[in-house]
Amino acid sequence: MRRFRIGSAFGIPIQLDLTFLLVLPLFAWLIGAQVEQWGGLVNDVWGAGFDAAVLTTGALPWLLGIASALGLFTGVVLHELGHSLVAKRYGFPIESITLWLFGGIAQLTEMPEDWRTELYIAVAGPVVSVILGGLSYVAFVSIPATGSILVESVRFVLSYLAVVNVALAIFNLMPGFPMDGGRVLRALLARTRPYARATQIAAEVGKGFAILLGLFGLLAAFNPFLIALAFFIYIGAASEAQQTTMRAAFEGVEVQDIMTPADRVQTVSPDASVADLIDLMFRERHTGYPVERDGEIVGLVTLEDARAVRDVERDAYTVGDVMTTDVHAVGPESDVMTALGELEDRSIGRLLVHDDRKGFVGLLTRTDVMTALSIIKESGRYEAPSGTDEPEVIRPGA
Ligand SMILES: [Zn+2]
Repeated sequence: MRRFRIGSAFGIPIQLDLTFLLVLPLFAWLIGAQVEQWGGLVNDVWGAGFDAAVLTTGALPWLLGIASALGLFTGVVLHELGHSLVAKRYGFPIESITLWLFGGIAQLTEMPEDWRTELYIAVAGPVVSVILGGLSYVAFVSIPATGSILVESVRFVLSYLAVVNVALAIFNLMPGFPMDGGRVLRALLARTRPYARATQIAAEVGKGFAILLGLFGLLAAFNPFLIALAFFIYIGAASEAQQTTMRAAFEGVEVQDIMTPADRVQTVSPDASVADLIDLMFRERHTGYPVERDGEIVGLVTLEDARAVRDVERDAYTVGDVMTTDVHAVGPESDVMTALGELEDRSIGRLLVHDDRKGFVGLLTRTDVMTALSIIKESGRYEAPSGTDEPEVIRPGA
């Protein structure tokens, strides 16, 4: 289990990723180690009148570090809730909010393609962060310095939250994917351009920003956290662009249009030996087969399953011994992006295509999807066939 649920707000589950459990104590420690410097800075800029001797008594710096880090991550959750509540208001359900190494992610089940909706959802998070920063600042200045440990501790945490929440908003408004600013940029570009083109531009800006951040992290500040963050932003930008290109390409295309139909799918018997299976894979250069008994699909077997058996034992083991029986299926009329999501979520290579009346009608592999994608891209056909019942058939190899 990499993620676990810690609660929910407005019916949205909030979950923690394991990486978050590493970063929370790290932040608490970093803040705690710099209590004196931070106090000095706030004294200089805002005339706070912090007494270093009070703030650094005993274990207090570490308690302040923990309180500030928890406050920061509460701010991140509220930021994500900002996105989520606006998304819900426009009818986009939120699957979950996840806290991980680099903050929070609000998972939308689908992305809005109307530019105004996307714009409102994207700015809602930073707006929440600015409001939190402002409120923290107001609370900070309205509590007079008394020199007591409790009051000074509260003021310290408030001064910290005032700055980091605003910093969070500014960072998130950087105009590239996957930051909120990337979504704002795409929304604005999409007013006058096709959605996919707007995505590409925003992704390129995001990649450029990631490269600059990475160079800065590497050369100027040697900071591993910044380098990792730059890497994450780069990957995020690239995958956003790819997702959108694919969604545009597969608009209106169904699984049955691109699957390998059942009459062209070779199946194997559960009684065949693993040695024979490997021979077959070698001859046909296919690495996975459905396993069929009496006209019914009972499992899937892949090269990996076969390789789990040692060389000398491959005659003794049968396909039935090594196959996977936990087989996932999609309907022939499902859309391709849903099926692809299924392949990715479960990290599997192939799905059975199962019709309620006809049973097994085909097999959908990642290769099928990728081949179809390049055919659609090559032929320049990004639009769904409209007006006809029979879609233009794009069958790889047909
Ligand atoms: Zn955000």
